[in-house]
Amino acid sequence: PTAVMWFRRDLRLADNPALVEAADAGGGVLPLFVLDPHLWGPAGAPRRAYLGASLRSLDASLRQRRAGLSVVRGDPVRRVVLAAKAVGADRVHVAADHGPYGAERDRRVEEALTAAGIELVRTGSPYAVAPGRVTNGSGKPYQVFTPFSRAWAEHGWRAPVDPPTGAHWLSLDEDTTDIPDPALPDGIALPEAGEAAARRRWAEFLDDVDDYADRRDLPGTDGTSRMSVHLKYGEVHPRTLLADLARRRSRGAATYRTELAWREFYADVLHHRPDSARDYYRPELSRMAYDEPGAEFDAWREGRTGFPVVDAGMRQLRATGWVHNRVRMIVASFLVKDLHVEWQHGARHFLQWLVDGDLASNNHGWQWVAGSGTDAAPYFRVFNPTTQGRKFDPDGAYVRRWVPELADPDRVPDPHDPDEATRREVGYPAPLVDHKAERQEALDRYQAVRA
Ligand code: FAD
Repeated sequence: PTAVMWFRRDLRLADNPALVEAADAGGGVLPLFVLDPHLWGPAGAPRRAYLGASLRSLDASLRQRRAGLSVVRGDPVRRVVLAAKAVGADRVHVAADHGPYGAERDRRVEEALTAAGIELVRTGSPYAVAPGRVTNGSGKPYQVFTPFSRAWAEHGWRAPVDPPTGAHWLSLDEDTTDIPDPALPDGIALPEAGEAAARRRWAEFLDDVDDYADRRDLPGTDGTSRMSVHLKYGEVHPRTLLADLARRRSRGAATYRTELAWREFYADVLHHRPDSARDYYRPELSRMAYDEPGAEFDAWREGRTGFPVVDAGMRQLRATGWVHNRVRMIVASFLVKDLHVEWQHGARHFLQWLVDGDLASNNHGWQWVAGSGTDAAPYFRVFNPTTQGRKFDPDGAYVRRWVPELADPDRVPDPHDPDEATRREVGYPAPLVDHKAERQEALDRYQAVRA
């Protein structure tokens, strides 16, 4: 029987169980991608450009197998059914989507397919363990990371599967390979997209993984894997990474596995609490007094707060669509606790610019920093951006790299806290706020909610 492989967040041929299922059906396979205006619209330019590049890469791999990727635009409910009918398919294969929008979309697509006598078959997910699978002794979801990660590891996952061979690939008759190539704002450099690039980057990182635990918190070094964007689009599956990590005994490999577990944990939390994409995971925090985003919010977005590590992070975001994890925490804390702006505004800005922008990891990362998320991050632990900078960027390499005004060590000996005269001389702004005073203000507002 003929099948459709509907690609979404799994833009790869290797270790793709849904694709194997589609090919094993024995008939032809139509590789399909639907550009959904609902998702394409709100994505920022970097993410659109990256997705376009990733689709072109998948198309090229399929062309080597003598069929391209069929890319159509429109509402998936209509487009998937049309495509399936066009090739006479009786099954549409997908990897399950557990996000709030994706799960609902798939339910509607399934309904329309069923009405047409076509089956929607879900195999696997973008996670090693599908969201919803890991539960505690009484069958309830975990709300704290550490016990989740233990149960997650015990649950285990299947071994990676090989790409299908000998499939008979189909394509739609109409001209459907008009893969968009949106222009990027000047000066933005994105990582190379596609399955092969993801594998190369992973192989390179594996050579250094044993040092990961020592280097992952230093934004001035290239100490992290940069796999987030590849995982986001499923150019590689986390199972593939976990299988390689299992062959290593180092602390670095163990730490890396824990980071992957965070990704799975947040997807699980969002699956059980879809409202937490927008609302406070801990509702009591929604009663706190916040300020409306205004001129200070703009200064934050544009990287001119006068706090070097904050500005470096916000400029790195705009220049590359990626920010180091330590710095994501610092800039998020600054927005919520120094500028008293609600986390949702920051989360939205991040999703617009991050190429790895992912609803679960991003919005729960923000909630964690805002003290309203899982894992009881105590609200009163307010990051001091200057001490954070000194501690995690001790030689100032990160700040000097992304804030060119502070690059010259002769003119700016202390890049984390340049004095007033130096700031004036190099054209770097004075601090937007008094951190000590705003810290107190944040704590007072918090006390008012608790009272
Ligand atoms: P590595 O250090 O090499 O980590 C390996 C992988 O583990 C990552 O690729 C990622 O998949 C996972 N991971 C690591 N840390 C986390 C974490 N805290 N939460 C969830 N997964 C993690 N990650 C995203 O993928 N998309 C986002 O939109 C996103 N937004 C964030 C927003 C905030 C405010 C914060 C604090 C964190 C956010 N993160 C997000 C998590 C983390 O910052 C990135 O995954 C990481 O910086 C990506 O770089 P890397 O691949 O080099 O990470």
